[in-house]
Amino acid sequence: MVKRQLGRRTLTRKPYPASSFQPPASSFQLPASSDGWEPGYLTLHRSGELAARARAAMAGLADCAFCPHACGVDRTDGGRGACGAGAEPVVASWNVHRWEEPPISGTAGSGTIFFSGCTGKCKFCQNYPISQLGYGNVVSVERLGEMMLELQGRGCHNINFVTPTHFVPQILAAVDHAAGLGLRLPLVYNTSGYETVAALRLLEDVVDIWLPDAKYSDDAVARRISGFPNYVANNRAALREIFRQVGDELVLDEHGIARRGMIVRHLVLPGGLADTPSVLHWIAAELSPQVHISLMDQYFPAYKVLNDPVLGRKITAEEYEAALEAFDAAGLENGWLQEHDDACT
Ligand code: SF4
Repeated sequence: MVKRQLGRRTLTRKPYPASSFQPPASSFQLPASSDGWEPGYLTLHRSGELAARARAAMAGLADCAFCPHACGVDRTDGGRGACGAGAEPVVASWNVHRWEEPPISGTAGSGTIFFSGCTGKCKFCQNYPISQLGYGNVVSVERLGEMMLELQGRGCHNINFVTPTHFVPQILAAVDHAAGLGLRLPLVYNTSGYETVAALRLLEDVVDIWLPDAKYSDDAVARRISGFPNYVANNRAALREIFRQVGDELVLDEHGIARRGMIVRHLVLPGGLADTPSVLHWIAAELSPQVHISLMDQYFPAYKVLNDPVLGRKITAEEYEAALEAFDAAGLENGWLQEHDDACT
């Protein structure tokens, strides 16, 4: 049976207004965890490896291949690839977010940093002003690190990088900067799952909690709806690499807040377009039935699909129930579902 651990009634990802929050700088430091736990990036920071990784990654911007598009553009000299990103990070919003999975949001919220641009082009993207229209502000690497510290000062459980793939080098450098100034929170990498293994290895022992999507099991659908070439092979290679790094155990602290592990998100689409049974079966069979799954029913038409014959509606209660049955049929054992609201179908 599905463990209905908590029915997340909503898991909204509304675009936030441009950040204006400026907390007092005096609240940057956190006391050490009572049981001595600390995130892996602190060890890498102290040894200098984090800085070395950041330097190497920043050099890679001159011939960018930080996602499977492998554009090969020189982002340090004005070049732009499919994601639209340049040399400096662009942040659309940063704030406390309370509607992620329970071990991520906890009671104090997740310190979410929304990056502008995306390696995908989802026609139904709810955040298209940020992901596809470039809404956001260019910030320095140092300022990005300070945002992390300010979110830490607000009491967030973690720092949650949303749509981070095209800014991996800048994130590494910013984490190194912030670690030197007192950052102690676990880092969450919240991604479409369209990743290269090479980029994920740069993040090994830097990212603590992986939050990848597994969106599709059909390449033609993934390309047509979301603009991802060869999504399935790249997504599955990425999931394997993440699994290699952290396995199927979701490590929690004494308050049930995640410290390390992976949670795979899957958004159920109308008309079976996400092929949920195949996605879930692959995870159970090729990774582990113990992998935590977040099975999301929150799809609603947005952006380019308002009048689409299939994507122009929410999913039905029957479609979500079928997804839950697919979860059981795959033999999966851990995860979260959302209490489907019939009134919204
Ligand atoms: S991160 Fe952007 S520029 Fe680099 S390969 Fe991916 S889409 Fe192209």
